[in-house]
Amino acid sequence: MERIPFCLFTPPQKGKKIVWEITSQCNMQCKHCCSNAFNSQIVSLNEFIFLNQKLLERRINEMVSFGIKEFYISGGEPFLVKNIFEFLKSLKRKNTKVSIASSGYFLKENVIKKLSNLKINLLHISVDGHLARIHNSLRGGNFFNRIIKNINLMKKYKIPLRIGCIIWRENENHLEEMVKLCTKLEIEELRFSWLVRVGRFKKHPELYPKRKRLAIFKEIKNLQEKYRNNIKITAHRMAGAEYNNISQLCPAGDKLFFLNPSGKLSPCSWIAKIDSKLLTKKSLKETDIATLTNSKEFLKFKKIIKERRNKDFKGCPFIAKYQNGSYYSNDNLLN
Ligand code: SF4
Repeated sequence: MERIPFCLFTPPQKGKKIVWEITSQCNMQCKHCCSNAFNSQIVSLNEFIFLNQKLLERRINEMVSFGIKEFYISGGEPFLVKNIFEFLKSLKRKNTKVSIASSGYFLKENVIKKLSNLKINLLHISVDGHLARIHNSLRGGNFFNRIIKNINLMKKYKIPLRIGCIIWRENENHLEEMVKLCTKLEIEELRFSWLVRVGRFKKHPELYPKRKRLAIFKEIKNLQEKYRNNIKITAHRMAGAEYNNISQLCPAGDKLFFLNPSGKLSPCSWIAKIDSKLLTKKSLKETDIATLTNSKEFLKFKKIIKERRNKDFKGCPFIAKYQNGSYYSNDNLLN
């Protein structure tokens, strides 16, 4: 599928993709966490993944039959889940594409070896500054040096890597240093993303960059050009001419789905964070994914998409609601 410039996700080339927050547990206390993950390593037994392996296997089979070809696993911190490798093996046995978003903190050599044997398609590791001081101040602890050491190990085991970097107040003037760090680490892709005021970030408006969004994106475009032979640099929602005359539709609820740690389904993870009415009441504990997509919450979202199309509202419905308080409005970040 063609990249949708206004979407905060990359929809799959083939079939459907699910973003699955498998746990809310996290060892970090990031000031901007959109999932409001808990700083705890104590397992919450409410979380679907911990229920039982047999049910988990059944639900994975049903998801694959439903057309899910890509799983994007995130959290919390996925590597705090004790049965993570059983889970990942089940996904890979089904020949699906599996990407994992992690802080990188728990990825020591024995874990990396297992990931390499499983042929994980992508590890997305968050590094939010080129210096320990910058990264650690956002993430709430002394994590940077260990993560960089683990990234070097991931390179040794040839795991496909992407570094995700949030643009925030402390790094907004150091984007090129960030690119240089990633080229030194021989990372394939550096993805910059914009802060979205959901979750814990709502309590920390001081983190937002001072520079104008367009000025930052212009700098990223220059960096893309300057370093194009060294590293792929990408960014969410790069504003510019390509935003004009957009005819593509939001892929949520059609090509893209989101599962929360309790096993409840929503058309998109960002929508789930601002609108609990579009999160299914039932969960995978009770029923399969196809049934969840026929729920009244999904029917309501389909109606929203249809009306947006009829009224010719452009862009991302999440951004429209987030910025203007209504799905029936334009996504203002288009130029
Ligand atoms: S609402 Fe649609 S367009 Fe916006 S981020 Fe979600 S999937 Fe992408």
